[in-house]
Amino acid sequence: MVLYRCDGCGAEIPRQALRYTVAIDVRAAYDEIEVHLADLIRDHRAEILALLERMRQRDPQEVEDQVYKRFQFDLCPACHRAYLRDPLRFHVGSAALAEDIDIDGFLRSLGFGQTREEP
Ligand SMILES: [Zn+2]
Repeated sequence: MVLYRCDGCGAEIPRQALRYTVAIDVRAAYDEIEVHLADLIRDHRAEILALLERMRQRDPQEVEDQVYKRFQFDLCPACHRAYLRDPLRFHVGSAALAEDIDIDGFLRSLGFGQTREEP
């Protein structure tokens, strides 16, 4: 039974097999701003209303994505190794070049990925 599929290469990842999850949070970021007295006493109502009007004309998902977006992927061990080597340029073909280390065997020797028997 396949419960997961590698988002890198599409390989099936069976139950209890080693897989990796990658979570990426993309957030709008600015340096700290300095707020002066003039900023506090200025009437921002017209600016806010204009901004709200512009946002009404945009796709809500597009507006949300410009502020925050989260991605989550499942990767097989080969894609995981390739991803760690170069996260910003990861592609499916780079997984085939990854050195094969038996981390799955090591983690299983520690007890991970074992099926528990029901009492
Ligand atoms: Zn993969």
